[in-house]
Amino acid sequence: MIGPLEDLVEALCRLPTIGRKSAWRLALYLMEQPQSEAARLAAVITEARTRLRQCARCFNYSENELCTICASPTRECGCICVVEKPVDVLAIERGGRYRGCYHVLGGVLSPLNGVTIDKLRIAELGQRIRTEHPEEIIIGLGGSADAETTALYLARLFKDQPVRVTRLARGLPAGMELEFADQITLTQALHERTDMRYGKTDG
Ligand SMILES: [Zn+2]
Repeated sequence: MIGPLEDLVEALCRLPTIGRKSAWRLALYLMEQPQSEAARLAAVITEARTRLRQCARCFNYSENELCTICASPTRECGCICVVEKPVDVLAIERGGRYRGCYHVLGGVLSPLNGVTIDKLRIAELGQRIRTEHPEEIIIGLGGSADAETTALYLARLFKDQPVRVTRLARGLPAGMELEFADQITLTQALHERTDMRYGKTDG
């Protein structure tokens, strides 16, 4: 068939949630657009990929050494919310109520899929607890079985550290990813977080 078009379909296919049929639909759509539109899309992808890096402290996306949240003097660094992906930071930030900082783990433990402890930024989190001395770590992971395992692992790992470990309230439906939770549910889950050591509810 047509080489470059097939290459485009192949490339689109590699994106998450894009099947072959969708890839063909997107590729044909792009072919129908003016060349300038396709060039613009290619340019913004390159721009985002080259300008953004990981924040040196929380591993959220950032244009600078520290992301805007870590660099902000008004955020409370005594509270670190541990999330799976940068998109989860966005989900919590959309609620507009959380004033603490974050730590992006880069996934959740899933040994069957090759995601072991060393593949996540768990050592970095331990390092932050030792150097930044936060008062509270909020485990803000989703409701999947792997997220659950990870939450329990972290709570156990930090149980002897002088830090309170809490988790989002059970308002999140089982299996739900944070990024798909609606704003009210997420804000509520954050507000009604529970202590992982003593099982008390935060006031
Ligand atoms: Zn940061």
